[in-house]
Amino acid sequence: MARSRRFFYFLVIISLIVALFFSILLGLIIFIGDVAYFFYLGRSAKKSGYGSFANVPDQPQEPAAQEETIIERESVKIPCKYCKTLIDPVTDKTCPNCGAPIDLT
Ligand SMILES: [Zn+2]
Repeated sequence: MARSRRFFYFLVIISLIVALFFSILLGLIIFIGDVAYFFYLGRSAKKSGYGSFANVPDQPQEPAAQEETIIERESVKIPCKYCKTLIDPVTDKTCPNCGAPIDLT
């Protein structure tokens, strides 16, 4: 009776150890896979990142330059002498509202 009980405990402990061992093994395999995938992603991101990193300073500059030209063009606009409509002397030779010639003086 005592022997069989001891054997039972032995079996329980062995099964627990085996279960623990396999869970740790599985966890390790998944962890190693995750780490490998993470490094793979980091490497691929770096590889493709050189191009995008080089483009990062260019992309914000282009819209800023466009905005500057728009602001410059807007600041160039002058109000019409008669109807106060803002006229762009570069594109318009006469006022688009009342047709008066642009007087730059
Ligand atoms: Zn006008």
